[in-house]
Amino acid sequence: MKVLICGAGIAGLTLAWHLERAGWEVELVERAAAFRDGGYMIDFYGPGYQVAERMGLLPRLLESRHLVDELSYVDRDGRRTSRLTLTSGLEQVLSLLRGDLARAIADDVRAPITYGASVESAEQSAHGVSLRLTDGTTREVDLLVGADGTHSRVRELSFGDVLPRYLGHQVAAYIIEDEALSRRIGTRYRMLTEPGLMAGAYALRGGRLALLFLHREPDPALPADPAAVLRRRFGDLGWILPEVLSRCPDPPELYYDQVTQVEMERWHQGRIVLLGDACQAVSLFAGHGATLAMAAAWVLADELAAGGDLSAAPARYQRRMAPAIADVQGFGRRFIQWMAPSSRWRITVRDLLFRLAALPGGDRLFVNSLSAGGHNLITSRSGLLDGVRQD
Ligand SMILES: Cc1cc2nc3c(=O)[nH]c(=O)nc-3n(C[C@H](O)[C@H](O)[C@H](O)COP(=O)(O)OP(=O)(O)OC[C@H]3O[C@@H](n4cnc5c(N)ncnc54)[C@H](O)[C@@H]3O)c2cc1C
Repeated sequence: MKVLICGAGIAGLTLAWHLERAGWEVELVERAAAFRDGGYMIDFYGPGYQVAERMGLLPRLLESRHLVDELSYVDRDGRRTSRLTLTSGLEQVLSLLRGDLARAIADDVRAPITYGASVESAEQSAHGVSLRLTDGTTREVDLLVGADGTHSRVRELSFGDVLPRYLGHQVAAYIIEDEALSRRIGTRYRMLTEPGLMAGAYALRGGRLALLFLHREPDPALPADPAAVLRRRFGDLGWILPEVLSRCPDPPELYYDQVTQVEMERWHQGRIVLLGDACQAVSLFAGHGATLAMAAAWVLADELAAGGDLSAAPARYQRRMAPAIADVQGFGRRFIQWMAPSSRWRITVRDLLFRLAALPGGDRLFVNSLSAGGHNLITSRSGLLDGVRQD
């Protein structure tokens, strides 16, 4: 069986990893000109963690993790207003750069990846899918998988006009080199919030500092100059922001996007199937996107490996994944008001809750709330993908 996976991100690479071990002929196409390193920090836990464990990736991920032992809010003068010290329960929550997670999977994938290319057109017949790529080449495959993120090209081509649900915010992230600032932030994740605005900073190894910005924006249109927007909205908020914003790069080093969720009735159309954020994006407010993308890739591979009618496997995969996705999307929408409070009184209530969570045992409850849920997704039907690692 031949599959072309569009998008070499977390979901696409995880699917490639599993399908090639199940005997499939796999090829990936990726729009970026080269492998996408860096990015933003993700908390990685739950079902994706279980999948990574089965893939034998944990030693590598443990090496790449960044220790974060305190979450704290600061005011414009950089003074801490509330904090949660994380002392326990962190064993199964890894703070990783998105690029480090993707790299750990990619280094273990043998399938060829064509960079700087995408799918231009796709035509299905009873026997397969005929593809034309943007580099002018063509392919005949048994299955096309769109694992190409929230702005999916495969979705646009095959599923018509699906409009992601805009959550009223835009997000930006970038990394700078600054030994002194990196040391000053240490192992804390520090955040500053003002109504409708959130800026966060955490230190990375090698004297680097990662920055995250989230701001309320009723208009979903992306700005022509996102760095200028960040400077305008956050530049006079004090703390370390004027300094780090003066070194804000332009895209692609600056990640900038709308915050959206993708909800679709059908994730598949015959021999074309969507995976990860392309069909199930939960948004950064929910914080489970990468772990669910890996879980979904595992479930899809499991259903495909179970054999039988190829066009029936995607429907079974959707049935298994969809309830967990709907739950997490609901959680994400409810969490907006706490992660990006829209008023001063909400910020005060959030700080109060944060202080309560700092009482003895609160950190474990907090971490457990992150890592709970979705574990029953990783129960094999095919048996082919059971066990730890299959080379
Ligand atoms: C700021 C932020 C914080 C987050 N925090 C967390 C967290 O704490 N925990 C968590 O689990 N998740 C988190 N997420 C979500 C998580 O990063 C995503 O849900 C996850 O990366 C989805 O994986 P994916 O493979 O579907 O998409 P992606 O990882 O986005 O990969 C899609 C790939 O497709 C490529 N592509 C795009 N368009 C095309 C095209 N037309 N043709 C070919 N290739 C294409 C892209 O370049 C990319 O490589 C966060 C997201 C953001 C933005």
